[in-house]
Amino acid sequence: VLEGASYQPSSFEQRWQQTWESQDLFAPLEDPSDEPRSRSYVFVPPPFPTGALHMGHVRSYAIADAYARYCRARGDTVLFSIGFDSFGLPAELAAEARGERTADWVARCCDEMSVQLRRLGLSFDWSRVYDTSDPQMYRWTQWLFLLLREQGMVYQATGWTDWCEACDTALASMQVEDGSCWRCHGPVKVVKRTQWYLKVTAYVDENERRMSDPSVPQEADWQASQRTVLGRVDGVELAARADDGRRLTVFTPHREELDSVCCVLISPRHPEVETWIGDEVAPSVEALRKGGWERDERDAANVELVDTGVTLRVEGIDGPLPLLVTPAVDSRYGETAVLCVPAADRTDAVIADRLAGAKAVAAIDRATLAAAARPATRYRIRDFVISRQREWGTLIPIVECPRCGPVPVPRSDLPLGPEEAGRPTPCPQCGSEARRETDTLDCHFDGLWWWMANCVPAADRDDTMFDHPELERWLPGHCLIWGADGGGYVFDQRIFAKVLRDAGIWPWLEDGEPFERALLHEMVRFDGRKMSKHLGNVVEPVALMSTWGADALRLTVLLAASPRRAFVWTEGGLRRSHEFLSKLWDYATTWLGSDERRGDGEGIDTSDPLRRRLAKWCDAAQRRVSEDIESLSLHRAAHNAVELLDKIETFESRVVEQRGSVTDKDHDAIAVAVELLLELVAPFTPHICDELWAMRGDDELATARPWPSGDLALSRTSA
Ligand SMILES: [Zn+2]
Ligand SMILES: [Zn+2]
Repeated sequence: VLEGASYQPSSFEQRWQQTWESQDLFAPLEDPSDEPRSRSYVFVPPPFPTGALHMGHVRSYAIADAYARYCRARGDTVLFSIGFDSFGLPAELAAEARGERTADWVARCCDEMSVQLRRLGLSFDWSRVYDTSDPQMYRWTQWLFLLLREQGMVYQATGWTDWCEACDTALASMQVEDGSCWRCHGPVKVVKRTQWYLKVTAYVDENERRMSDPSVPQEADWQASQRTVLGRVDGVELAARADDGRRLTVFTPHREELDSVCCVLISPRHPEVETWIGDEVAPSVEALRKGGWERDERDAANVELVDTGVTLRVEGIDGPLPLLVTPAVDSRYGETAVLCVPAADRTDAVIADRLAGAKAVAAIDRATLAAAARPATRYRIRDFVISRQREWGTLIPIVECPRCGPVPVPRSDLPLGPEEAGRPTPCPQCGSEARRETDTLDCHFDGLWWWMANCVPAADRDDTMFDHPELERWLPGHCLIWGADGGGYVFDQRIFAKVLRDAGIWPWLEDGEPFERALLHEMVRFDGRKMSKHLGNVVEPVALMSTWGADALRLTVLLAASPRRAFVWTEGGLRRSHEFLSKLWDYATTWLGSDERRGDGEGIDTSDPLRRRLAKWCDAAQRRVSEDIESLSLHRAAHNAVELLDKIETFESRVVEQRGSVTDKDHDAIAVAVELLLELVAPFTPHICDELWAMRGDDELATARPWPSGDLALSRTSA
């Protein structure tokens, strides 16, 4: 594609990456004592070490890098780094499939991905990179487990949990996608087991208050994602009674529309569900739990329904209501029991259709109902199962003592490596012969806190983590940028921050919110589907960079769509980006190449109407690109920057039309405009900007220049 062209990104991109790193350009600057800078911590989630970046990473990191570079240019001291989410099932399964030791596989993947991230030209501070499978990190994961246990936020309980037979482990509900395991896509059943739980429900009220507080300035889409995770439903509770006098509290959000009510639906996870299941239907409920749960509302036509044979009566509702067990409750209301109201709810309507015998009750006595109903709220979210029966994870720091039960490992014994699992050890409490726990923590638990690990310099991490003084400097973080599927993680990270506040470790984080703003961007699609290894429709970013260069790839994903929209990957976008960069290359080498032609703060001489017009275009571009980046509308920012080149060309052709040739003053004006253009596109395509800027003949880097100020061109107007 690029043969014979003068723009050859492969001839300079890696050279600039080495220059940036050797000059340590991306370490956060020390504050000048007289004039403190704004601090901006820009966070992107660490990749799983799979060995290859995918387009979703490129999108996240291109957006975040452009924003971080912009923040640096506007004068902030910026913390921007990365890590590796190395523990967990994905790495263990990948290594297993290759017959390799997990630790070796992970180390190799991290190395390869570090190279790929560098090739993208991301402005990470590499000195702060972390790896969750490093003892330096999992020591603190274990420390955090002990703290959360002391705070009552981690508890052991026997309950219904999703289980993947193929992966041989418990799964969290967010790891079950349409009834299948997120890793192996095999069926998921529900089993009763003793597990460790994270009590996310403890902060539901505070989360809800925060998210519905109109005085909190937050992007609407980010709030919406958090509300979805929370899944709040308001309604009323009513007392239902069986013929033998047993009672069941039932919930409904449809108190005004109950005329069609036909039965009661109870979650198979309801704490009292066992008491409603007779011997004759117990096998059906068991089969329902084994069968894998379709928990999506779209699946109402196929969702399992088991009639308990019990009928209930509710005061004010004339007629008996059959009680049915179904997981169709969970995805809407959590582990509760609800009235099935077909006229008010589509899922209920589908379910009622399937129950030939279920007829609407004869009559509703509104006054009696109103008197009996108590206002109530349900949340779909539930406590999170954090223990996993796998090796590759942070070992749970608990000793199982036959006399004392579970006893926490003393903090001075941390870190405990995976090889300690199940080892005999004296009980820390009574000294009896005991054993270490064998379960590990799900990698989601590592994710509770890895978002703050970049704030602590690597050299200090052996001694200090959660109370490191730099945390108060950087938190709350300035901006979090993540794929839209990260909403659940973000929710739990926000809870973790509140726990540390309430434990007195982060008293300075008053509202317990870890980030000031967040962008949860949409996915990259291909051929109308989500791009994924599983679907076999993966486009390899590394291969694309080899052909087209990192700048073209970055620009393409930025220009493709608003971060808030998904886009379909096509190579056409890459061609257009390449065309722009080639044109920029040719144009800048023509107009900036000669020694005497440099913009250099000379400004545009606006004594002529054409040059006055050019100056206006420049100012408009500067203003728009700044505003667009500030609002994280990176696609508009990139578009407005790119468009300035067309404007400069228009100026040139009109000058030639009107005057026959380009005068010295016109040439100066073009040089000023091209330099501005390079400054404006530098956050998106940093390599070409530094390469072209260097042709001006000094040591300055375009990517290290301050952000161009407003009125740039007009204020330079010469007399
Ligand atoms: Zn599985
Ligand atoms: Zn003991």
